[in-house]
Amino acid sequence: MALASLALLLLLAGYAVLCAIWPFARCRKCSGTGIRQARRTVELCRRCHGRRYRLRIGRRLLNTGRDIHRAGTRHPHRHDSGGEFTPWP
Ligand SMILES: [Zn+2]
Repeated sequence: MALASLALLLLLAGYAVLCAIWPFARCRKCSGTGIRQARRTVELCRRCHGRRYRLRIGRRLLNTGRDIHRAGTRHPHRHDSGGEFTPWP
């Protein structure tokens, strides 16, 4: 049992690393072509809108977690306008 949970942990870790370094997976609907071939016309894939890739579920979770973390910290949102940056309101 311990071995099974260890394997699962490794699998999850591997998936997390995969999401971190390569967050996009090929669109399943168009299998990475970005287009959808209708009978005579060629249209953009509706699922990925021609971008060919979709964000991995794991990466989406990662992003959500980061957003929650950012919202939880007291640092105000930083504006990258090149102007003055005031750390506290
Ligand atoms: Zn697609």
